[in-house]
Amino acid sequence: MKLSELKNGETAVIIRLSGHGGFRKRIMEMGFVRGEKVKSVLDSPLSDPVKYHVMGYDVSLRRNEASMIEVLPEEEAKTILTPAPSFGCIAECGHCTTCSCNKQRNNAIRKNVINVALIGNPNSGKTSLFNILTGSSEHVGNYSGVTVDAKSGSFNYKGYRIRITDLPGTYSISAYTPEEIYVRRHLFNEEPDVIINAVVASNIERNLYLTTELIDLNLRTVVALNMYDELVSSGAKINYEHLGAMMGVPMIPTVARSGKGLDKLLDTVIEMFEGTNNTARHIHINYGISMEESITPLAALLHKATDLPHQFPVRYWATKLLEKDNEALKQLHACKDIGTWMKKADKLSHKVEHETGVDVETAISDAKYGFINGALQETYTVGNENANKKTRRIDRLVANKWLGFPLFFALMWLMFTAVYKIGAFPQAWIESAFAFMGQFFTNIIPKGAIQDLVVNGIIGGVGSVAIFLPNILILYLFISLMEDSGYMARAAFIMDRLMHRMGLHGKSFIPMLMGFGCNVPAIMATRTIESHSSRIITILITPFMSCSARLPVYILLAGTFFPEHAPLVMIGLYIFGILIAAFTARMLRIVKYKKDETPFVMELPPYRWPTLRSTLRHMWEKCEQYIKKIGTVVLAATVIIWFLSYFPRPAENATTENNAYAESYIGMMGKSIEPIVEPLGLNWRSSIALIASLPAKELVVSTLGVLYNSNEKNLSQSLIASGDFTKSSAAAFLVFILLFFPCIATVTTIAEETGKKKFALFAIIYNTGIAWLIAFLINQLGSYF
Ligand code: GDP
Ligand code: MG
Repeated sequence: MKLSELKNGETAVIIRLSGHGGFRKRIMEMGFVRGEKVKSVLDSPLSDPVKYHVMGYDVSLRRNEASMIEVLPEEEAKTILTPAPSFGCIAECGHCTTCSCNKQRNNAIRKNVINVALIGNPNSGKTSLFNILTGSSEHVGNYSGVTVDAKSGSFNYKGYRIRITDLPGTYSISAYTPEEIYVRRHLFNEEPDVIINAVVASNIERNLYLTTELIDLNLRTVVALNMYDELVSSGAKINYEHLGAMMGVPMIPTVARSGKGLDKLLDTVIEMFEGTNNTARHIHINYGISMEESITPLAALLHKATDLPHQFPVRYWATKLLEKDNEALKQLHACKDIGTWMKKADKLSHKVEHETGVDVETAISDAKYGFINGALQETYTVGNENANKKTRRIDRLVANKWLGFPLFFALMWLMFTAVYKIGAFPQAWIESAFAFMGQFFTNIIPKGAIQDLVVNGIIGGVGSVAIFLPNILILYLFISLMEDSGYMARAAFIMDRLMHRMGLHGKSFIPMLMGFGCNVPAIMATRTIESHSSRIITILITPFMSCSARLPVYILLAGTFFPEHAPLVMIGLYIFGILIAAFTARMLRIVKYKKDETPFVMELPPYRWPTLRSTLRHMWEKCEQYIKKIGTVVLAATVIIWFLSYFPRPAENATTENNAYAESYIGMMGKSIEPIVEPLGLNWRSSIALIASLPAKELVVSTLGVLYNSNEKNLSQSLIASGDFTKSSAAAFLVFILLFFPCIATVTTIAEETGKKKFALFAIIYNTGIAWLIAFLINQLGSYF
């Protein structure tokens, strides 16, 4: 029977995994291995994906992916499964010829600098460890994939300079996901002196899988048994000294949140570096007779080579050749005898498959889990799983069929209300502060170009953007709390089905949601999406989410031209943006990214209380970023716009302000692109507003304010009186503003986050193109009726 057929509350045992190699490997790393018990816990409100419990973890899996896992009820499974190879099947190194364990790294050159790499599963507390050790403030979150690239920091400890690198979280260091490749290359290229492997103490079994891979690599590893507090409170017990001795890796209990155990951890790091640790020794995990009989001859062959990369042991390369591991083949590519090796490996792996009935990868991971199981049997006593019970109770509510969505929307409503309503108070203070400054400089600078630049250009322009700082902080307070508590993963869980229709992942939902606030942080939030194609697509569709900068424009134009239906028009615009985003996502999936390369296996971490420190740090980080943006991009843009609209100066006797604008550079630009927007029913004044809005879309309003400035009427009345807009051209204008060129900051962020200019270019051309097309249709159809 298939795992997808399992009903909520039922338990079964895994018999076989099908599906392509990448999928199999991924899910194996996550604990779905032969012989393991798995329980179907909870359906998401739309009945897909499903939350499963395996190896002490909650994991969300889509039904069609679960259908690739074959299971049987426990009783039946017993008759089929042979018992897993038991512990004891390890070989001491030194008795073997298959590895180069005696390799010595040359520490002499830099005697007192230790390079440390932090490796561990997502959410195991690596970044927390990193922050507390280095005193820095990287972003921590109870949500997998928060750290995407490596961050380094250093500090002094007992006469050593310790340089530590926080690597992205991985379940293994095979090479299927970008993170895994990243980590493996880091180990290969940087050759860190010591590895700190963060392991979740309260969920040790799956976490140790990665540790076994580090053992294979023969790297000097110290295990930080992190979240030891959770282990203790769950009532579980672990004899970590004994476990460490068996695995040949020292294990140190830590609590990264409070800093407990860190001195001991660092002492052990130094011992490892100096080679004085008593626990550390190199072991070989026995992969079973058939595998070992294949590894030995192949390793003997490799041993003769002189050009084998020295970073990893011979035995490791032999295993990877048997697995036909792409990354290893790339690294061995230049070796003279690679052809012979591959032929030999091919023959041997066929033999293994024939003898064991499973492929090499499965045979190895089965053996590894067998090894871990055996070791834990002797050293680990399960607790009463209190923590799990609490999490399960909350999840039953949060992902409830009837309550899941209402709760979610209530939370969103609360968030947006807080952002706008509470944010309005400090917003007003900032506004009056800027008004005061403007007044002050008007008084002290004599009337003229300089005064205009300072007051209308710099203070006016920067002020109009700076007032959004409080809103952004509140938005991030909510996002940070949702992330740290573990709710974010649940939001992705319940939205996955809908997002799947767009060819995306539940995780894409969060950034899109954030896009309603501001597209820039939203695009940065896509870092949590593991799948590369999903991430790119999400980045490209985020600008269609109506950010808060567009709101004033909607309020003005909808209120002016559709006074009876203004709220409806506004909601319509929001929804229309979402539809275009969905359409674009589908198109990109059809045309460019045919397949989503990573399966939807997402960990649902236990709920945790967010810490004040990490929440404040997170908010401060955003605050800093935003102020930086105001000081650079926004400031430069406003000065340029001011310059273009102020010069050349009209003759003294110019009739009205309006004409003054028409003859400025920006007026000329408006006129020159008028032919392009004419089919949309717009004239040169609207073009100016569009150009002026490139740095920030709210500038549409202020620009229109200047262009249609009149003493007797307010802006709405002057817009109507001008006769420049019909109902249909106003609608076209609104849709055009919604869809066209995202602001400069967004475009820059797209380029930065994707690392490629072409995506920024796409965002400019495609968005403007589709905006024009739809605005054109609206205007033409509108005038026709
Ligand atoms: P990373 O993904 O490995 O970088 O993990 P993070 O450092 O982002 O931490 C994941 C979550 O675990 C956060 O909510 C942390 O506050 C929490 N956390 C980290 N270390 C500990 C610990 O020792 N004890 C407890 N109870 N929670 C921890
Ligand atoms: Mg991290």
